[in-house]
Amino acid sequence: MGIESTAHTFGIGIVDFKGKIMSMINDIYVPEKGGIHPVMVKEQHLNNFKETIEEALIEANISLRDISLIAFSQSPGLGPVLKIGALVARLLSQTLQIPLVGVNHCIAHIEIGRLLCNIKDPLTLYVSGGNTIVSAFESGAYQIFGETLDLAIGNMLDSFAREAEISHPGGPKIEKLAQGASYYIPLPYVVKGMDLSFSGLYTAAKRVLKSKKFHQKYTLNDLAYSLQETSFAMLTEVTERALAHTEKKEVLLTGGVAANKRLQEMISYISKEHDAQFEVVPAKYAGDNGVMIAWTGILQYKSKGSDDIKETIIKPKKRMDKILIPWRN
Ligand code: AMP
Ligand code: MG
Repeated sequence: MGIESTAHTFGIGIVDFKGKIMSMINDIYVPEKGGIHPVMVKEQHLNNFKETIEEALIEANISLRDISLIAFSQSPGLGPVLKIGALVARLLSQTLQIPLVGVNHCIAHIEIGRLLCNIKDPLTLYVSGGNTIVSAFESGAYQIFGETLDLAIGNMLDSFAREAEISHPGGPKIEKLAQGASYYIPLPYVVKGMDLSFSGLYTAAKRVLKSKKFHQKYTLNDLAYSLQETSFAMLTEVTERALAHTEKKEVLLTGGVAANKRLQEMISYISKEHDAQFEVVPAKYAGDNGVMIAWTGILQYKSKGSDDIKETIIKPKKRMDKILIPWRN
């Protein structure tokens, strides 16, 4: 059983040791207005975890006694929220007397992609509400080749949408709006070395939106399109450079923003240029979920056994490139 609890989603996934997915239940916090407030998310997770577990067991048609391993998201994420998953995981592990493993959330996104897309060694672009990372396996770990220096791409799109009075989550609605555009509005394109910065782009887009002349000259469609084209071109540039450097033969797109067809098109294009196979994690498993935690927990358990309870403290800031991956050697 995998327990995801890094941000808005409290997710339970049940997977067998061969990688067969038996169930997946997500309880997702959706803010009425504004962004994600850790205390509010924590309260929702605390209120709903028991039902989420029960539903996942029913869907898998098993009982708690059939579970032989507990995995939970240990890093990175919002501290108060991570604590709920860790607490539930420790409680279950100790009550049922079964092993426990802490899993890195970003690594889990890659591992579920490797399983479901049937690929071995991808360069991964992981784009979500909380993360923007270009990563590939090298020297025993998932190295980070590029990442955002400030906002995550999903957060940037959602924040802009909020300014335009579009309900959460904004990403999919911006994608729709972009399809009706007639003009490209120049916006700041910021790539620093291999890293990305979205805060200047966000501020500039907000300024255009609030400017007096905006509605005389442009539509919200134009601005949504321009925001997407600029930010996705930045992501594509960094991904392509990492691909050229690593010479990987597979490219994996994952995270909630991976659902975007325009981003898929851009990443697919550069993959072809470099003779690499392009794969997108199926939408159902691309966002945060407990299945990816369960599967990564199995890989980890098989290669290095379970964690001692003292090692299961949450690590909100732990980077994926600091974690050795024994199952890839
Ligand atoms: P995650 O954090 O992985 O659960 O993904 C949630 C993020 O994905 C939110 O920021 C959404 O706005 C974003 N998202 C979902 N679908 C799309 C889409 N079609 N285009 C752009 N962003 C999207
Ligand atoms: Mg995620």
